[in-house]
Amino acid sequence: MKSIVVKDLAKRYSNGTEAVKGISFELEKGEIFGMVGPNGAGKTTTIKMITTLTTITSGDAFVSGIDVKKHPEKVRRIIGMVPQDLSVDDDLHGFENLVLSGKLYGMDTKLAVKKANMLLDFFDLTEFKDKDVGSYSGGMKKRLDLASGLMHEPEVLFLDEPTLGLDTQTRSKIWDYVKRLNKELNMTILVTTHYLEEADMLCNRIAIVDFGKIVALDKPSALKEGIGNSVMMVKVKNDLEKTKKLIENIDGVGEITMYKEDLKVTLKRMEVAPAILETMYSNKITLERLSIKEPSLDDVFIHYTGAALRDREEKTDSMAMRRTMRRMRQ
Ligand code: ADP
Repeated sequence: MKSIVVKDLAKRYSNGTEAVKGISFELEKGEIFGMVGPNGAGKTTTIKMITTLTTITSGDAFVSGIDVKKHPEKVRRIIGMVPQDLSVDDDLHGFENLVLSGKLYGMDTKLAVKKANMLLDFFDLTEFKDKDVGSYSGGMKKRLDLASGLMHEPEVLFLDEPTLGLDTQTRSKIWDYVKRLNKELNMTILVTTHYLEEADMLCNRIAIVDFGKIVALDKPSALKEGIGNSVMMVKVKNDLEKTKKLIENIDGVGEITMYKEDLKVTLKRMEVAPAILETMYSNKITLERLSIKEPSLDDVFIHYTGAALRDREEKTDSMAMRRTMRRMRQ
Protein backbone atom coordinates (compact mmCIF):
# COMPACT_ATOMS: atom_id res chain seq x y z
CA MET A 1 0.00 0.00 0.00
CA LYS A 2 1.16 3.54 -0.73
CA SER A 3 2.17 5.61 2.30
CA ILE A 4 0.68 8.82 0.94
CA VAL A 5 -1.65 9.46 -1.96
CA VAL A 6 -2.56 13.06 -2.79
CA LYS A 7 -4.98 13.84 -5.62
CA ASP A 8 -5.67 17.35 -6.97
CA LEU A 9 -5.22 18.81 -3.51
CA ALA A 10 -6.14 22.49 -3.29
CA LYS A 11 -6.40 25.10 -0.57
CA ARG A 12 -8.07 28.48 -0.60
CA TYR A 13 -7.73 30.32 2.71
CA SER A 14 -10.66 32.37 4.00
CA ASN A 15 -8.92 35.59 2.88
CA GLY A 16 -9.05 34.32 -0.70
CA THR A 17 -5.39 33.24 -1.01
CA GLU A 18 -5.10 30.20 -3.25
CA ALA A 19 -2.12 28.64 -1.52
CA VAL A 20 -2.29 25.22 -3.23
CA LYS A 21 -3.78 24.86 -6.69
CA GLY A 22 -4.13 21.16 -7.42
CA ILE A 23 -1.21 19.04 -6.28
CA SER A 24 -0.96 15.28 -6.87
CA PHE A 25 1.71 12.74 -5.88
CA GLU A 26 2.11 9.27 -4.40
CA LEU A 27 4.72 8.05 -1.92
CA GLU A 28 5.90 4.47 -1.54
CA LYS A 29 6.61 3.06 1.93
CA GLY A 30 10.16 3.94 3.03
CA GLU A 31 10.62 6.87 0.65
CA ILE A 32 12.16 10.19 1.59
CA PHE A 33 10.25 12.71 -0.47
CA GLY A 34 11.29 16.35 -0.62
CA MET A 35 9.19 19.39 -1.43
CA VAL A 36 11.34 22.34 -2.43
CA GLY A 37 10.33 25.80 -3.52
CA PRO A 38 10.48 29.45 -2.55
CA ASN A 39 8.66 31.04 0.38
CA GLY A 40 4.92 31.09 -0.17
CA ALA A 41 4.96 28.30 -2.78
CA GLY A 42 2.44 26.28 -0.76
CA LYS A 43 4.65 23.59 0.79
CA THR A 44 3.58 24.08 4.41
CA THR A 45 -0.06 24.35 3.43
CA THR A 46 0.20 21.02 1.57
CA ILE A 47 1.70 19.34 4.63
CA LYS A 48 -0.90 20.95 6.87
CA MET A 49 -3.72 19.54 4.75
CA ILE A 50 -2.28 16.00 4.75
CA THR A 51 -1.65 16.12 8.51
CA THR A 52 -5.19 17.41 9.25
CA LEU A 53 -3.93 20.76 10.60
CA THR A 54 -5.95 22.70 8.04
CA THR A 55 -9.03 21.75 6.04
CA ILE A 56 -8.82 20.56 2.45
CA THR A 57 -10.66 22.90 0.06
CA SER A 58 -10.81 20.33 -2.73
CA GLY A 59 -9.12 17.12 -3.77
CA ASP A 60 -8.20 14.12 -1.63
CA ALA A 61 -5.40 12.88 0.59
CA PHE A 62 -4.81 9.38 1.99
CA VAL A 63 -2.19 8.29 4.51
CA SER A 64 -1.58 4.52 4.60
CA GLY A 65 -4.89 4.18 2.78
CA ILE A 66 -6.84 6.24 5.34
CA ASP A 67 -8.91 9.11 3.97
CA VAL A 68 -7.73 12.34 5.65
CA LYS A 69 -11.10 14.07 5.12
CA LYS A 70 -13.19 11.17 6.44
CA HIS A 71 -10.98 9.92 9.31
CA PRO A 72 -8.70 12.74 10.49
CA GLU A 73 -8.38 11.27 14.00
CA LYS A 74 -7.14 7.91 12.61
CA VAL A 75 -4.60 9.72 10.42
CA ARG A 76 -3.31 11.70 13.42
CA ARG A 77 -2.53 8.44 15.23
CA ILE A 78 -0.23 7.12 12.51
CA ILE A 79 1.65 10.27 11.57
CA GLY A 80 4.38 12.30 13.22
CA MET A 81 4.60 16.01 12.48
CA VAL A 82 7.60 18.16 13.30
CA PRO A 83 6.68 21.77 12.47
CA GLN A 84 9.10 24.58 11.60
CA ASP A 85 8.86 26.17 15.02
CA LEU A 86 10.12 24.19 17.98
CA SER A 87 7.36 22.59 20.00
CA VAL A 88 9.45 21.45 23.00
CA ASP A 89 9.07 23.22 26.36
CA ASP A 90 12.18 25.10 27.55
CA ASP A 91 11.16 24.84 31.20
CA LEU A 92 11.04 21.04 31.25
CA HIS A 93 13.88 18.53 31.09
CA GLY A 94 14.45 16.70 27.81
CA PHE A 95 13.15 13.45 29.31
CA GLU A 96 10.05 15.15 30.77
CA ASN A 97 9.27 16.71 27.40
CA LEU A 98 9.22 13.32 25.71
CA VAL A 99 7.16 11.58 28.39
CA LEU A 100 4.64 14.42 28.26
CA SER A 101 4.46 14.15 24.50
CA GLY A 102 3.89 10.36 24.79
CA LYS A 103 1.07 10.90 27.26
CA LEU A 104 -0.55 13.44 24.92
CA TYR A 105 -0.61 10.64 22.37
CA GLY A 106 -2.42 8.47 24.96
CA MET A 107 0.52 6.23 25.95
CA ASP A 108 0.68 4.82 29.49
CA THR A 109 3.54 6.12 31.67
CA LYS A 110 5.60 2.90 31.58
CA LEU A 111 5.59 2.75 27.79
CA ALA A 112 6.21 6.51 27.47
CA VAL A 113 9.26 6.26 29.79
CA LYS A 114 10.66 3.29 27.84
CA LYS A 115 10.15 5.00 24.49
CA ALA A 116 11.56 8.33 25.76
CA ASN A 117 14.77 6.62 26.87
CA MET A 118 15.12 4.80 23.55
CA LEU A 119 14.67 8.02 21.58
CA LEU A 120 17.05 10.01 23.83
CA ASP A 121 19.60 7.32 23.09
CA PHE A 122 18.89 7.37 19.34
CA PHE A 123 19.36 11.14 19.18
CA ASP A 124 22.46 11.11 21.43
CA LEU A 125 20.74 13.14 24.13
CA THR A 126 20.89 10.66 27.05
CA GLU A 127 23.53 12.61 28.95
CA PHE A 128 21.37 15.75 28.78
CA LYS A 129 18.03 14.07 29.58
CA ASP A 130 17.70 15.63 33.06
CA LYS A 131 18.70 19.14 32.02
CA ASP A 132 16.32 22.02 31.26
CA VAL A 133 15.71 22.26 27.52
CA GLY A 134 16.33 26.00 27.88
CA SER A 135 20.03 25.15 28.24
CA TYR A 136 20.12 23.05 25.02
CA SER A 137 21.73 24.32 21.79
CA GLY A 138 19.53 24.91 18.71
CA GLY A 139 20.59 21.58 17.21
CA MET A 140 19.87 19.67 20.44
CA LYS A 141 16.42 21.25 20.68
CA LYS A 142 15.68 20.24 17.11
CA ARG A 143 16.78 16.66 17.85
CA LEU A 144 14.49 16.59 20.88
CA ASP A 145 11.70 18.00 18.73
CA LEU A 146 12.21 15.16 16.24
CA ALA A 147 12.20 12.64 19.10
CA SER A 148 8.97 14.16 20.39
CA GLY A 149 7.29 13.62 17.01
CA LEU A 150 8.35 9.95 17.09
CA MET A 151 7.10 8.96 20.56
CA HIS A 152 3.99 7.19 19.22
CA GLU A 153 5.96 5.30 16.53
CA PRO A 154 4.37 6.97 13.50
CA GLU A 155 4.32 5.23 10.12
CA VAL A 156 4.84 8.45 8.26
CA LEU A 157 6.89 11.44 9.40
CA PHE A 158 6.38 15.01 8.19
CA LEU A 159 9.24 17.45 8.64
CA ASP A 160 8.64 21.09 7.80
CA GLU A 161 11.99 22.83 7.19
CA PRO A 162 13.80 20.71 9.80
CA THR A 163 17.12 22.50 9.38
CA LEU A 164 16.02 26.10 8.88
CA GLY A 165 18.25 28.55 10.71
CA LEU A 166 20.76 25.92 11.85
CA ASP A 167 24.45 26.13 10.96
CA THR A 168 25.84 23.87 8.22
CA GLN A 169 27.38 21.34 10.59
CA THR A 170 24.25 20.99 12.70
CA ARG A 171 22.15 20.72 9.54
CA SER A 172 24.19 17.82 8.28
CA LYS A 173 23.87 16.09 11.68
CA ILE A 174 20.08 16.44 11.60
CA TRP A 175 20.01 14.91 8.12
CA ASP A 176 22.12 11.99 9.41
CA TYR A 177 19.45 11.24 12.01
CA VAL A 178 16.70 11.53 9.41
CA LYS A 179 18.56 9.11 7.13
CA ARG A 180 19.02 6.64 10.00
CA LEU A 181 15.30 6.81 10.88
CA ASN A 182 14.47 6.07 7.29
CA LYS A 183 16.97 3.22 6.97
CA GLU A 184 16.54 1.51 10.33
CA LEU A 185 12.75 1.84 10.65
CA ASN A 186 11.86 2.02 6.95
CA MET A 187 9.95 5.16 7.84
CA THR A 188 8.31 7.17 5.08
CA ILE A 189 9.40 10.79 5.38
CA LEU A 190 7.98 13.87 3.66
CA VAL A 191 10.25 16.85 4.13
CA THR A 192 10.12 20.46 2.98
CA THR A 193 13.36 22.36 2.67
CA HIS A 194 14.94 25.48 1.25
CA TYR A 195 18.31 23.81 0.91
CA LEU A 196 18.46 22.31 -2.57
CA GLU A 197 21.81 20.61 -2.13
CA GLU A 198 20.51 18.88 1.00
CA ALA A 199 17.36 17.73 -0.76
CA ASP A 200 19.59 16.44 -3.53
CA MET A 201 21.64 14.29 -1.14
CA LEU A 202 18.81 13.10 1.08
CA CYS A 203 15.66 12.60 -0.95
CA ASN A 204 14.71 9.67 -3.17
CA ARG A 205 12.41 11.98 -5.09
CA ILE A 206 11.83 15.70 -5.16
CA ALA A 207 8.85 17.84 -6.09
CA ILE A 208 9.61 21.42 -7.09
CA VAL A 209 6.68 23.55 -5.99
CA ASP A 210 6.00 27.02 -7.33
CA PHE A 211 2.88 29.18 -6.99
CA GLY A 212 0.86 26.34 -5.47
CA LYS A 213 1.70 23.78 -8.15
CA ILE A 214 4.22 21.01 -8.70
CA VAL A 215 6.31 22.08 -11.69
CA ALA A 216 8.63 19.04 -11.68
CA LEU A 217 8.73 15.75 -9.79
CA ASP A 218 11.35 13.00 -10.10
CA LYS A 219 14.52 11.50 -8.64
CA PRO A 220 17.17 14.21 -8.18
CA SER A 221 19.40 12.52 -10.79
CA ALA A 222 16.55 12.33 -13.31
CA LEU A 223 15.64 15.99 -12.72
CA LYS A 224 19.23 16.94 -13.47
CA GLU A 225 19.52 14.66 -16.48
CA GLY A 226 16.14 15.94 -17.68
CA ILE A 227 17.48 19.43 -18.25
CA GLY A 228 20.58 17.95 -19.91
CA ASN A 229 23.49 20.15 -20.76
CA SER A 230 26.62 19.66 -18.74
CA VAL A 231 28.99 22.58 -19.03
CA MET A 232 32.68 22.34 -19.93
CA MET A 233 34.93 25.24 -19.03
CA VAL A 234 38.08 25.38 -21.16
CA LYS A 235 41.07 27.68 -20.95
CA VAL A 236 43.74 27.37 -23.63
CA LYS A 237 47.23 28.87 -24.00
CA ASN A 238 46.95 29.82 -27.65
CA ASP A 239 44.28 30.94 -30.09
CA LEU A 240 40.96 31.02 -28.32
CA GLU A 241 39.01 31.96 -31.47
CA LYS A 242 40.43 29.01 -33.40
CA THR A 243 39.59 26.67 -30.51
CA LYS A 244 36.04 28.03 -30.42
CA LYS A 245 35.56 27.39 -34.14
CA LEU A 246 36.96 23.86 -33.89
CA ILE A 247 34.77 22.92 -30.96
CA GLU A 248 31.68 24.52 -32.49
CA ASN A 249 31.74 22.05 -35.36
CA ILE A 250 31.71 18.95 -33.17
CA ASP A 251 28.41 17.09 -33.12
CA GLY A 252 26.80 17.26 -29.67
CA VAL A 253 28.23 20.65 -28.72
CA GLY A 254 25.67 23.33 -27.91
CA GLU A 255 26.14 27.02 -27.24
CA ILE A 256 29.66 28.36 -26.65
CA THR A 257 30.15 31.63 -24.78
CA MET A 258 33.04 33.38 -23.09
CA TYR A 259 33.17 33.36 -19.30
CA LYS A 260 36.05 35.51 -18.08
CA GLU A 261 39.13 33.87 -19.69
CA ASP A 262 37.40 30.56 -20.36
CA LEU A 263 35.24 29.17 -23.10
CA LYS A 264 31.97 27.97 -21.61
CA VAL A 265 30.93 25.02 -23.76
CA THR A 266 27.47 23.48 -23.37
CA LEU A 267 27.53 19.72 -23.91
CA LYS A 268 24.31 18.19 -25.17
CA ARG A 269 25.73 14.79 -24.23
CA MET A 270 28.55 13.97 -21.83
CA GLU A 271 30.08 11.55 -24.43
CA VAL A 272 31.10 14.51 -26.56
CA ALA A 273 33.83 15.51 -24.05
CA PRO A 274 36.56 13.11 -25.38
CA ALA A 275 35.94 14.33 -28.95
CA ILE A 276 36.60 17.90 -27.85
CA LEU A 277 39.89 16.89 -26.22
CA GLU A 278 40.97 14.88 -29.27
CA THR A 279 40.20 17.78 -31.60
CA MET A 280 42.23 20.15 -29.47
CA TYR A 281 45.13 17.70 -29.25
CA SER A 282 45.27 17.01 -32.98
CA ASN A 283 45.21 20.77 -33.69
CA LYS A 284 48.09 21.40 -31.29
CA ILE A 285 46.06 23.56 -28.95
CA THR A 286 47.62 23.64 -25.49
CA LEU A 287 45.15 23.19 -22.70
CA GLU A 288 45.67 25.25 -19.57
CA ARG A 289 42.59 24.40 -17.55
CA LEU A 290 39.50 22.24 -18.00
CA SER A 291 36.51 21.35 -15.84
CA ILE A 292 33.15 19.77 -16.45
CA LYS A 293 30.14 20.62 -14.33
CA GLU A 294 26.99 18.53 -14.37
CA PRO A 295 23.71 20.38 -13.85
CA SER A 296 22.90 20.97 -10.19
CA LEU A 297 19.49 21.03 -8.55
CA ASP A 298 19.88 24.83 -8.58
CA ASP A 299 20.05 24.67 -12.39
CA VAL A 300 16.93 22.46 -12.36
CA PHE A 301 15.17 25.00 -10.17
CA ILE A 302 16.11 27.85 -12.51
CA HIS A 303 15.01 25.79 -15.51
CA TYR A 304 11.52 25.20 -14.13
CA THR A 305 10.86 28.43 -12.25
CA GLY A 306 12.88 30.93 -14.25
CA ALA A 307 14.95 32.15 -11.29
CA ALA A 308 17.35 30.87 -8.68
CA LEU A 309 15.74 30.06 -5.36
CA ARG A 310 18.02 32.58 -3.66
CA ASP A 311 17.03 35.40 -6.01
CA ARG A 312 13.34 34.61 -5.62
CA GLU A 313 13.69 34.64 -1.84
CA GLU A 314 15.50 37.98 -1.92
CA LYS A 315 12.82 39.40 -4.20
CA THR A 316 10.07 38.10 -1.92
CA ASP A 317 11.87 39.56 1.09
CA SER A 318 12.36 42.97 -0.52
CA MET A 319 8.74 43.02 -1.75
CA ALA A 320 7.56 42.23 1.79
CA MET A 321 9.83 44.97 3.14
CA ARG A 322 8.47 47.50 0.61
CA ARG A 323 4.90 46.56 1.59
CA THR A 324 5.74 47.05 5.27
CA MET A 325 7.37 50.45 4.57
CA ARG A 326 4.30 51.52 2.59
CA ARG A 327 2.02 50.49 5.43
CA MET A 328 4.20 52.40 7.91
CA ARG A 329 3.96 55.56 5.77
CA GLN A 330 0.16 55.36 5.52
P1 ADP B 1 5.56 27.74 1.86
O1 ADP B 1 5.49 26.70 2.94
O2 ADP B 1 5.92 27.16 0.52
O3 ADP B 1 6.44 28.88 2.24
P2 ADP B 1 2.83 28.37 2.61
O4 ADP B 1 2.04 27.14 2.41
O5 ADP B 1 3.25 28.72 4.00
O6 ADP B 1 4.09 28.34 1.63
O7 ADP B 1 2.02 29.61 2.02
C1 ADP B 1 1.42 29.60 0.74
C2 ADP B 1 0.59 30.87 0.57
O8 ADP B 1 -0.51 30.84 1.48
C3 ADP B 1 1.35 32.14 0.90
O9 ADP B 1 0.89 33.16 0.01
C4 ADP B 1 0.93 32.46 2.32
O10 ADP B 1 1.01 33.85 2.58
C5 ADP B 1 -0.50 31.98 2.33
N1 ADP B 1 -0.96 31.53 3.66
C6 ADP B 1 -0.35 30.62 4.47
N2 ADP B 1 -1.07 30.44 5.60
C7 ADP B 1 -2.16 31.24 5.50
C8 ADP B 1 -3.29 31.51 6.34
N3 ADP B 1 -3.45 30.89 7.51
N4 ADP B 1 -4.22 32.38 5.90
C9 ADP B 1 -4.07 33.01 4.71
N5 ADP B 1 -3.04 32.81 3.87
C10 ADP B 1 -2.09 31.95 4.25
